[in-house]
Amino acid sequence: MYRNLSFWHDTVPDDLTPRDPLPGDLEADVAIIGGGLTGLWTAYYLLKRDPTLSIVVLEKQIVGFGASGRNGGWCSALFPASTAALERRHGLDAALTMRRAMIATVDEVGRVTAAEGIDCDFELGGTIAYARTAVQQRAARAEVAEAARYGVDAIELRADGGTFDPACARLHPAKLVRGLARVLEAKGVRIFEATEVLDFAAQSVRTSRGTVTCETVVVATEGYGATMRQTHRRVLPLYSLMIATEPLPDAVWHEIGIAHGQTFTDFRHLLVYGQRTADNRFAFGGRGAGYHWGSRIQPEFDRSPAVFAHLQRELEQLFPAAGPLTVTHRWGGPLGVPRDWHAAASYDRETGIATAGGYVGDGLSTTNLAGRTLADLITGAATDLTALPWVGHRSPSWEPEPLRFVGANLGTLAMRVADAEERLTKRPSVAARIMGPLTGH
Ligand SMILES: Cc1cc2nc3c(=O)[nH]c(=O)nc-3n(C[C@H](O)[C@H](O)[C@H](O)COP(=O)(O)OP(=O)(O)OC[C@H]3O[C@@H](n4cnc5c(N)ncnc54)[C@H](O)[C@@H]3O)c2cc1C
Repeated sequence: MYRNLSFWHDTVPDDLTPRDPLPGDLEADVAIIGGGLTGLWTAYYLLKRDPTLSIVVLEKQIVGFGASGRNGGWCSALFPASTAALERRHGLDAALTMRRAMIATVDEVGRVTAAEGIDCDFELGGTIAYARTAVQQRAARAEVAEAARYGVDAIELRADGGTFDPACARLHPAKLVRGLARVLEAKGVRIFEATEVLDFAAQSVRTSRGTVTCETVVVATEGYGATMRQTHRRVLPLYSLMIATEPLPDAVWHEIGIAHGQTFTDFRHLLVYGQRTADNRFAFGGRGAGYHWGSRIQPEFDRSPAVFAHLQRELEQLFPAAGPLTVTHRWGGPLGVPRDWHAAASYDRETGIATAGGYVGDGLSTTNLAGRTLADLITGAATDLTALPWVGHRSPSWEPEPLRFVGANLGTLAMRVADAEERLTKRPSVAARIMGPLTGH
């Protein structure tokens, strides 16, 4: 069952058999809800700070079942709120410190995976963003000019009018998350799978298999937070879908101009993202699947034939030199969107409840920063990380239905309209300018 979740689950060297569930009531220092990268990185850095801590991870399915095992494998310095948005909200210095922390996080993931022997195809190759029209080229120049003005991101213009951002590594997400879980178990973290958390409060997590009594609760459920009472309106699950192709010969990759370690996108509004996998396939994804009434999450929402067909068409148009492509895998999953598209890491000393998330599509590296930050907050260390502007940030709640349904689907539709408008008018989209602030642009 888990093998079919994605290309990554299909190719991870791991039998994916669920670990034992929670055996009944127990006590621990820290209980972590959710076996994705937020939860696992938090456990990793907590142990670095205090190796005597007893930590349990409670996962409804298996480690890496959620977005952490299924994503596009861009370990990037991207943060869902732009530098300009961070500056407006927190001031220039805080915005630049956040950017530097994100860039350093890409290297930290590379450093730890190498040090711990987690073979996850991590290769720092940067991101190529193609600019396929005059409007997109204008957007590329504006992005480079903005980066130069802030002076932190080393984004450059390419000869073809697009951009290159060196701060991104390609990796195999399921190898990372499953490998990290094994490292944690070797260090004494107890991971219980097939254990659904039903409710949590200060010092207590109630699951389908018993209750964990603990000093600290870490809520690390990202998009799935929408299915829990306390976090239902704090996050909106938005689906991103992906395809993978058969491996292509090296000569084709040479012709296309994408080296190992490189990721790619373009300057359209409705995001697409891709990578050259270690075994020479395209793994390519995009937004555009609808939001589902009541923030529901169902296995069938991972698959939309119309979106898969659209992704294949777009990929073939981006790279005509690759010829007609054979798609071998199709999948998707929910990412977590906060109302203001601003991720956050928080810890309430009174209740002992910590949480991090709201990464939208930029969580693969940001979860690592979250883990380090929560570990510092929980152990009471005042560090550069605990002073970052996303610490303690509180996004507004999402509206109740039907407003949430209308707003979320209108946002996606507006980005689609903006792309069509730019294709037709050859001018920057008015729809994007109006709707952009609602969708984090
Ligand atoms: C298709 C796709 C492509 C993406 N591409 C990229 C990318 O290229 N780069 C990037 O930076 N980000 C990307 N993202 C986003 C990124 O994957 C996420 O932001 C990140 O993995 C979030 O990690 P997490 O641990 O917070 O959440 P998750 O990995 O979603 O983990 C949450 C876990 O909680 C478990 N859970 C849920 N409910 C319960 C419960 N009641 N009890 C116990 N456990 C529960 C779930 O089973 C899940 O394992 C992508 C996301 C998707 C879906």
